[in-house]
Amino acid sequence: MRMIDTIEGLRAARAELKGRTGLVPTMGALHAGHLSLVGQARADCDAVMVSIFINPAQFGPGEDLSRYPRDLPGDLAALEKAGVDVVFTPTPDLMYPPGFQTWIEVAEVSRGLEGERRPGHFRGVATVVAKLFNLFQPHAAYFGQKDAQQVAVIKRMVRDLDFPLELVICPTVREADGLAMSSRNAYLNPEQRRAAGVLYRALSAAGDAHAAGLRDPDALRAIMLDMLRAEPLAEPEYVSVADARSLRELDAPGDAPMLLSMAARVGATRLIDNRLLPPDLNNRADLTAVLGG
Ligand code: AMP
Repeated sequence: MRMIDTIEGLRAARAELKGRTGLVPTMGALHAGHLSLVGQARADCDAVMVSIFINPAQFGPGEDLSRYPRDLPGDLAALEKAGVDVVFTPTPDLMYPPGFQTWIEVAEVSRGLEGERRPGHFRGVATVVAKLFNLFQPHAAYFGQKDAQQVAVIKRMVRDLDFPLELVICPTVREADGLAMSSRNAYLNPEQRRAAGVLYRALSAAGDAHAAGLRDPDALRAIMLDMLRAEPLAEPEYVSVADARSLRELDAPGDAPMLLSMAARVGATRLIDNRLLPPDLNNRADLTAVLGG
């Protein structure tokens, strides 16, 4: 496994790779969710490339940039074991040198949900992902369902800016109680960790109601919100029932795939989760085809 922290080094390493290449962009503190993307890339591609970069541009003021979990030795050991070929670990200065002033704004699909609560977040995401695509020039790039709006934003950007690559969206990997794996779960104390399972329970309750025939978006939202509110340690920020392709909030029942999503705070930790309905869409092929149109 080659570890690289310069642009020239990355371009040289990339030029040596043969066949189909896959890229997995991450912010490190890797867990089984990240490694499922790496595993999929390993299965699909001749060479697997991973970036570890805590992108300052996607954190707002007052967010957790300075305390975001880091574990480079652990990450490198896990990636080596997973058969990764190239790991790129740039510094913020390398990605945003003095004078940097070019930003990518994916207008509409960035607006609601996470984008509404985290102004500038998707501008930071789109810009760094575009840079990574240009640097790595992968044939395929792997992203997680966990960040569903991010998928929609990147899909739109790839189409609008003609990036010559394929996106692959992998299902959310969960803990035994359903909590979506996240680097931020490390912030939770044991009591908060127990409470954090409520996001998955809320998504499941709405899924059960949908399976029993409930289609009204407001009623599905109410089920999720009630479940979140029943957990004293959780403070809901939003619940959403949106069209899975446009991410527009639904106000009437329909047949189109729906994205159920939410954010809640457990203590100081902000957690997000989502699922598609109907439930059989939460697999790689359907997620890749449906999320973000
Ligand atoms: P992050 O390091 O949080 O920026 O995540 C890097 C990539 O891993 C993103 O495409 C995430 O959507 C994906 N990811 C994060 N958590 C999970 C999870 N629990 N299951 C699947 N993919 C995930």
